[in-house]
This record gives sequence, C-alpha cells and structure tokens, in this order.
Amino acid sequence: MKIYDTSLRAKVDFEPLEPGVVRMYVCGPTVYDQIHIGNARTFLAFDVIRRWLTARGYKVTMAQNLTDVDDKIIRRANETGRTTEEVSTTFADAFIEQMHRFGILDPDIRPRATHEIGPMIEMISRLIEQGHAYRSGSDVFFSVRSDPDYGHVSGRDVDDQLAGARVEAGEDKRDPLDFVLWKAAKPGEPTWDSPWGPGRPGWHTECSAMVHRYLGMPIDIHGGGSDLAFPHHENESAQAECCWGGTFANHWMHTGMLLVNGEKMSKSLGNFFTLKDVLDEYPAEALRLLMLQTHYRSSLDFSFERLSGAVGTLERVRTAVANLSWAASHAPEGAAGADEAARELGERTAQARESFFACMDDDFNTAGALAAAFDLVSSSNVYLDAAGTAAAAATARAAADCLTELFGYLGIDVAPKPATEELPERCLEIARERGCYEGDDVNEAAEALVRLRADARARRDWATADAIRDELSQAGLTIEDTAGGARVRRS
Ligand code: AMP
Ligand code: ZN
Repeated sequence: MKIYDTSLRAKVDFEPLEPGVVRMYVCGPTVYDQIHIGNARTFLAFDVIRRWLTARGYKVTMAQNLTDVDDKIIRRANETGRTTEEVSTTFADAFIEQMHRFGILDPDIRPRATHEIGPMIEMISRLIEQGHAYRSGSDVFFSVRSDPDYGHVSGRDVDDQLAGARVEAGEDKRDPLDFVLWKAAKPGEPTWDSPWGPGRPGWHTECSAMVHRYLGMPIDIHGGGSDLAFPHHENESAQAECCWGGTFANHWMHTGMLLVNGEKMSKSLGNFFTLKDVLDEYPAEALRLLMLQTHYRSSLDFSFERLSGAVGTLERVRTAVANLSWAASHAPEGAAGADEAARELGERTAQARESFFACMDDDFNTAGALAAAFDLVSSSNVYLDAAGTAAAAATARAAADCLTELFGYLGIDVAPKPATEELPERCLEIARERGCYEGDDVNEAAEALVRLRADARARRDWATADAIRDELSQAGLTIEDTAGGARVRRS
C-alpha cells in the first residue's frame, strides 16, 4: 500500500511501525459553531482512510481531539451571554451528532483539551527545563530556533518564515518565530492554575500532549487539512520531538481544501454551508459520494449542482444493485447462466474489484476506485437489458454483492432495503381481498399480486389488471416493469 507523505513530499510504501497495527491521530474541530462542509471533507477523507486500512487487515487505533478552549469559543460565549463551557459543550455535541449523520465512525479516543490541562502543563515544564521554552511574564513561548529540525513537516525554511512571523500586541517573545505554549489569564477568560500563574494552553499544545498520552510516540499517521500543515502541525511536531525525543509522527497526511467558486470555504470568508444544513436537505451518502469522487489531496470544487448530480448517481447505483438482486432471486429455475454475456459480466465484476483495490491501495484514490465501481454498474445494466428475465442468478448475485462490498468500503450503503420494510401492510389486505395470498408476509403478498395481474393480462382481462394496479396505486404503490421482471415499489 502506498501513501503520500507530506513531510517527505513523496508517495511511499506504507509500513506500520508495529506489524498489523496502525495508530493515527487526526486534528479535530474547534467547537464554537456548527462545522462546515469543508471541515467535513477532511473528516470524511480520514474516515475512509481509516476504513480502508481496517479493510486491509490493520488494527487501527484512532484518536481525534476536540478543541474546547480557544479565542473563538470565548468570543462566541461573550457574544451570546453564555459560558465558554456551555458553548463548547453545545457544539461538541452538535459536531458528534453531525458526524454520525454523515456516517463517520467514532474515533477510539476523543480527548478534550480542557480535560488534558495536566499533561499539557507537564509537557511545557519539561520544555522549559530543556531550554526549548521560556517564560515571559506569565506567558510561556516555544523557542523555534532551539529546534534544529523545525520546518521538516511543512518543508519551510525557518528564515523564510521570518518575513511572515507576527508578534501580537502584548506578547513579549525573544524571537518573532516563537509561538505560545501557555497564555496568561485575561479577564473574562477560562483559566487553569499553572507554575506560571493562571492561564490557558496555546492551541498547538493540546495535540502533542494527547498523542503522547493516548497513542504513544511515534504514531504511524498524523492527519488534518492542508491548512494545518503550517504552523499547527509544524509546531505540534517541534514541541513533541523536543520534549520526548525521537519522531512524533512517522507519516503526515493532508487533505486538499474544499472550495466554493474557487475560494477556500471558511467561516471567515462567510462562503460556507454547515454540514447540518446540507444534510437536512440532501442524503449523507450523496454528499460522501460527491466528495469521494475527488482524490483527497486535490482541492474539491463544491456546488449544489454537483451534489444534485451525486444524488442521481447514487440512485443509479442503487437501482442497478436492486435490479441485479431482483434478477438473482427471480431467475428461472435451471437458467443456464453460463452464456457468453454472463461470463463477461463475471469477468467485469472481478476486474472492477481488482481495480478498486489497486486504486485504494495507491494513496486512497477513491476517485479511481469509484470509476471502477461505476464501470461495473454500466456493465450490469447492459447485461440485464440484454438478458431480461433469463439473467444468470449467480452472476447477477456476484455483481450485486461486489457493488455492495465496494461502496461499503466508502461508507456508502447501496444494498437494496428488504422489501418488507418498504411496503405497507395494505398490500396484505389487497392480496387477501383478491384471494391470491393468505399469509402475512407483505413481500410475498406483493409478489402474488404481481402474478395475479400478469395472469389477468395474459387472459386479456384488462379490467382486473387495471383494478389491481389502481388499488396498489391508492396504497401509494406502483407496479414497475424491470429487466428482471415486474415488482411492487413505493410510488
Ligand atoms: P478547524 O476547526 O478550523 O481547526 O478545522 C477542522 C478541520 O477542517 C481541520 O483539519 C482543517 O484543516 C479542516 N478544514 C478547514 N477548512 C477546510 C476546507 N475548506 N476544506 C477542507 N478542510 C478544511
Ligand atoms: Zn492538532
């Protein structure tokens, strides 16, 4: 398996540090508001990376933090007359709820910054003892020039950064490159006691302390959006490597940004859509599909037209899987199933799976993997159109199972829902009134009605055939003629 490592600026063979085990950390959100779909793109990318590593047999342990103390949270609390804790709890809950709606698996460990102040203070104290950090009043800064490896994550030269380095009002740094590890208390802010007086940790501090505490160093993969590579990840790495020695993260992975009209989606530009609002209107799996049609490292142009397109694509895939399943379970007894067309679909099924795996193993190329799956959808449609009711059961079943499996790796469920879940009880009554079915399985009742209507049509008894159709229609059902035969569906 190959992955692109940002710090090496190359695609490399992935070898976990401990055979069969992967430890990964992905920076989580600052919980001051609903997250937007740009944030969601990054979390989705790592969800799929994690799912694929698991599918390939690795035992993955993933940690993701919640940044629940930060300037933005404090501002939001002041604006809305709530405590910072109320704000962060509200939006941490909202974040987790939206992640579940979006089909993102929970991390194994979800530490919160405010619960990790002790370990952060320990890390800062060690850095001071080692001469990598210094006090300035009640602030503590990390001395960037004390770390000879600084810049290796993002590939920036320290001297190049000097031009962009800023000193904020009230800060007393020895060097403009230095960054804050501990901020002295300001009125109206949440604070914790520390050896340097009351205050709160700087943003970069938490992730290093959490990785060290929960996963141990080095970890296999550290991830986040590409906007975090510098300074956040550079600083996380510098602190941790100076504090505990050795390597912080063996590999660094970064996602490309989600763009709207060519610009990065961000709260500050105001060009954002929250994940919640989008999921209120569109199916989560369509949004997943849209996002995964672009490789995770490329920037992704979002538009609602594209999202509507993905809704249609998903429907097309589901219809194909439903038709294949239908054909598989309704194939006539003793259908040969070994004709040329069936053999070809069998081959295409194997090829699609192989190509999907090869793409995913090549730096999680979900775009290529999906293209392989879509090819199988097209081949299946061609096959079913030609084979009609004489489709080979085993071939159709294998293609349906393959599509379900492949989309499943991406957290997209395309398996047909059991018909009994979809069809209303009214089907049973209609079938009983018409004397064609006495049992209590809605699905079987629907099939009996379809047969009854077909018999009526064969007798040219149009009145009965139409009456059955009308009764089903009043119950919100239609009889649909598909390549695999007629079936009852919700209208
Ligand atoms: P934040 O809460 O701002 O730290 O963001 C949480 C995650 O979302 C980080 O990994 C960011 O890199 C990522 N992120 C922010 N904006 C975007 C965007 N427009 N596209 C993709 N990822 C983003
Ligand atoms: Zn982080």
